[in-house]
Amino acid sequence: MSTFARKSAILTVLGITLVGCGTQSGTGGTADGPRTPSPGASATAASPARTGEPTGDPSGDPSGGPGAGPERRVPTLAPGPGGLAAVFERAAPSRGAAKTVALTFDADMTADQGPRAARGERFDNPGLIAALRELKVPSTVFMTGRWAEEYPDQARSIGIDPLFETANHSWSHYAYTGDCYGLPVVGRDEMRTDVERAFRAFEKAGVRNTVPYFRFPGGCYDDAALRAVAPTGVTAVQWDVVGGDAFATDADAVAEQVLAGVRPGSLVVLHCTRSAAPVTEAAVRRVVPELRRRGFTFVKVSDLMRPDAP
Ligand SMILES: [Zn+2]
Repeated sequence: MSTFARKSAILTVLGITLVGCGTQSGTGGTADGPRTPSPGASATAASPARTGEPTGDPSGDPSGGPGAGPERRVPTLAPGPGGLAAVFERAAPSRGAAKTVALTFDADMTADQGPRAARGERFDNPGLIAALRELKVPSTVFMTGRWAEEYPDQARSIGIDPLFETANHSWSHYAYTGDCYGLPVVGRDEMRTDVERAFRAFEKAGVRNTVPYFRFPGGCYDDAALRAVAPTGVTAVQWDVVGGDAFATDADAVAEQVLAGVRPGSLVVLHCTRSAAPVTEAAVRRVVPELRRRGFTFVKVSDLMRPDAP
C-alpha cells in the first residue's frame, strides 16, 4: 500500500472528515502550452464558488475496475453550486508553511495524431519517467486516453508504480470550450463520454493507480464544461505554476521559470511528451535537487489536496 493510500485508510478508520481545503489562490487557468489563457478559464478558476469542500469519500472510482476500495480512496472536492465540478489549483493558503509542491505531467496525445505516431513521432517520454524514478519524485501524470492506447506498456508501468498516480486528461485532448488554441472541439454532449473513455483506456492498459482528477485539454473550461464532466465524479485540476516546457528548447529557462514560480503548496504543470516538450527531463533534473535544497518535499496532487498532509 502506498503512503497516501495508507493515510487514507487511517483517516477512514479514525472517521476524520476532510475539510478546510475549499479555497485556493493562485493565478491558474493559464495554459498547458506556451499560450495565453482563455478568459473563461481564469475567471472561472478564480471563483471560490467553484471550489468545493474535500470529501473523504471520493466521488468514486471512475474506472470501476479491480482494486477499488480503501486503497484507491483519494480526496476529492465536492461539486459546487449548480452541479459544477470543483476546481483545484494549489494547496490552500491555510496550509501555511508546509513546503510541499506537486509536479504534474500531461501525457498529451490528440485523437488525430495517430498518423504522426505511425510515422515515428514520439508522444511519450520514457527518459522523463526514468528520471522521476531515479530522483524518487512522487508525481501525478495527466494522461490522455489516446496516449494510453498508443503506449499501453508505458501506461501500465506508470499505472502500477506507487510513485505515480494517473489522472485523466480526456481521451481525445480536444477542447472543452469553443476557443482553445485551435484545438478541435468536443461537443458538449460528448464531454462526459470523452472523460469516461479515457478511464476505460486506462483500465484496459492495466493502470491501477487511477485518481478521479481531470485536467481540461489546454486548461480551457467554462461552466458548461464543468457541468458536463461533473457526473463522472472528477475534480478538475489546474495549476498555479506554468512550467513553460511546451515547445521549449532551453531546459535552463524552463527550470528557472519553475523555480521562480513555486511557493509552498504549488502545483506545477509540465509535460510528458517528447514531441511537444523535448527538454522536460533536463529541466526536471535541475529543478528537483534545487527545490529539495530549498526545503521542498514533492507530493502527488492527492497529497496536496489532503488537508492534513505534511
Ligand atoms: Zn494537454
